[in-house]
Amino acid sequence: MKIWLDGALQDAESARVSVFDHGLTVGDGVFETIKADHGRPFALTRHLERLGTSARGLGLPEPDLDEVRRGCAAVLDAHPMALGRLRITYTGGVSPLGSDRGEAGPTLVVALSATERRPDTTAAVTVPWTRNERGALAGLKTTSYGENVVALARAREHGASEALFANTVGALCEGTGSNVFVVLDGELHTPPLHSGCLAGITRALTVSWAGAKETDLPLDALERAEEIFLTSTLRDVQAVTQIDGRQLADGPGPVTAEAMRIFDEQSAADFDPR
Ligand code: PLP
Repeated sequence: MKIWLDGALQDAESARVSVFDHGLTVGDGVFETIKADHGRPFALTRHLERLGTSARGLGLPEPDLDEVRRGCAAVLDAHPMALGRLRITYTGGVSPLGSDRGEAGPTLVVALSATERRPDTTAAVTVPWTRNERGALAGLKTTSYGENVVALARAREHGASEALFANTVGALCEGTGSNVFVVLDGELHTPPLHSGCLAGITRALTVSWAGAKETDLPLDALERAEEIFLTSTLRDVQAVTQIDGRQLADGPGPVTAEAMRIFDEQSAADFDPR
């Protein structure tokens, strides 16, 4: 397997990042996950823009997006596969223990792995922890994902694939790696960005294509919801048919099924040509 590191393709087994990389020692890094269909990345420009936004939010040097594009193209060309997941990691770089981010310059890694189309339905749980919508990292896609790792482990203990957070004022926010949509009285809603959720790319496309309203919702809207679905790069639009053990339906409800159909149809145009 080849990855992109230090401006070139390298063997993944022998490629080395320093144990003193600030991304490793203090989580000083940002990332993107991008799906690729037969080597064609999905919404690459949007992902690169968000990488820049996250990097600026963390005070990292501006990423060289031309190099990131070169890295993505190189690893995709090196590994023909039907459905792939590109992972871009960009960190503060090497810095001696106990010191601030170093002078050595940032670290950029681009890696690719095979993935599969997600199932149409899943189960989710709510968790007792909160997203801090006023925190310095709110809305940034940083490598400080410890909170998500813990919450996802809780979900798995309950046979679910996603855990949903409220924010500090008890409003519905997002999942560990997805945005959430709910149908209430037949209308489609999703939490606004000021809830502290990530500006998901799948979320933005779904809002505009399926016409969802951005609405402040209490967490217990999930108890009243007629339908719930998740959006993310790897899930696309995925129906939640069980929430906190409550069976909502056996399959995607009518609004979810329509959102799935529209997303599949419209998103075909957003794969970059290769
Ligand atoms: N929220 C979080 C915390 C995420 O990590 C992700 C996944 O990247 C999303 C939402 C969904 O974003 P996107 O649709 O851009 O994959």
